[in-house]
Amino acid sequence: MQAIILSIGDELVLGQTVDTNSAHLSSQLARHGIGTRYHQTVADDREAVAQAIRLAIGQVELLIVSGGLGPTEDDLTRHALADALGSPLVLHEPSVEHIRGFFERLGRTMPDRNRIQAMHPRGTSVVPNACGTAPGIHTVVDGTHVYVVPGVPREMVAMYEAAVQPNLDLIEQSRHAILTTKLNTFGLGESDVAERLGCLMDRDRNPKVGTTVSDAFVSVRIRSEFPDATEAQHRLDEMAEQVHRRLGPIVFGRDDESLQQALVSTLIAHGRTVATAESCTGGLIGKMITDVAGSSQIFRGGWVTYSNEMKMAQLGVEQSLLNRHGAVSQPTARAMAAGALARTKSDLAVGITGIAGPDGGDEAKPVGMVWVALAYRRPGSGHGVDTDALQLNLGGDRQNVRDRSAKAAVQALRLHVLGQPIDLIRSGRRIPMGD
Ligand code: AMP
Ligand code: MG
Repeated sequence: MQAIILSIGDELVLGQTVDTNSAHLSSQLARHGIGTRYHQTVADDREAVAQAIRLAIGQVELLIVSGGLGPTEDDLTRHALADALGSPLVLHEPSVEHIRGFFERLGRTMPDRNRIQAMHPRGTSVVPNACGTAPGIHTVVDGTHVYVVPGVPREMVAMYEAAVQPNLDLIEQSRHAILTTKLNTFGLGESDVAERLGCLMDRDRNPKVGTTVSDAFVSVRIRSEFPDATEAQHRLDEMAEQVHRRLGPIVFGRDDESLQQALVSTLIAHGRTVATAESCTGGLIGKMITDVAGSSQIFRGGWVTYSNEMKMAQLGVEQSLLNRHGAVSQPTARAMAAGALARTKSDLAVGITGIAGPDGGDEAKPVGMVWVALAYRRPGSGHGVDTDALQLNLGGDRQNVRDRSAKAAVQALRLHVLGQPIDLIRSGRRIPMGD
């Protein structure tokens, strides 16, 4: 069992007050055999605190948040918790009475603004505060017990001893197995992926399914939580299979498998070799493939032919073809791929040419227009060569266009070897031969 401790307060991040609460809590938890994964100190900033809480939930069994429960404008921890949970704050009447009583014993009337201390997010429970005004808050989300306790060290210690410590054994016993996995895709936008997953993404499901995007890869995260580890694993695998079925071959790998690793292992499994003829990507495709250990089994070599002269001299692209269609064109991409195929005697070759920008685009050929062509030996015949082409229309800056084009080319090679249509890549339009 593990814990995360958050300390909240401007005075802490300003260095005016030393955060002793985290040290105290971690050392107490350690006595119970509970390790602390990390401490985080956050300013009195509603958004930042909510984010820190969201990040911690689901990672560990116990999250303790101290500070920011006071009655003043800058005490925002309960609001942040409400934001993180997506539940509105509601008033807890018995706590109003408790706070009123606290003031009465001091011979004072309760200021109105202290009512806020009796509020807690709907669905959470209130933890009594025996030596101060602010009650604490307890809830369980995604297998994480969340305790919010006062920042005043004396009150924090009292609440920890009265409410948290006595529950540690129970939390340990109710511990569930939480298993996660990630399916990685390339070729569809996040909203298209979400649409295909449909009800699998319903928030109240277990296993739970969500998506994240990073560098044009959309990953589908799956989180399975069950008392029994075998069941958690079984249900995780079952859900991964359902997700895979709905998304099809644009799923290239699970967990840390990269797109280029997936291509290399697919080529090895099918006993096929590959070559590259690159213009706008300047060698990125060759780099991606050779990043993978073992790629020498399948990569014959490649060219970076940036000028027309090099396309002609190195790859045999005809002058007349370049004159007629231009360097950035579907016939040129096909000719580059065919040239690389013939010269390397590989089974498959990719040719790529496009306008990476920021200059060089016009109405007919805008920045972001890229042609990816594949050349391959016609099955069953010794010498016949077929080609296939995909037009990409990409947004973003030069780096973006080059990065996405290279990834699209690697995914197109992979899909082709699997016998799948390359226009499963949705940013692309497939142009059949002879068009
Ligand atoms: P708060 O609950 O944020 O209103 O905090 C009340 C007071 O407790 C602050 O003014 C600090 O002096 C003190 N305090 C809050 N958090 C901590 C902490 N992590 N370590 C030590 N003192 C703290
Ligand atoms: Mg504070």
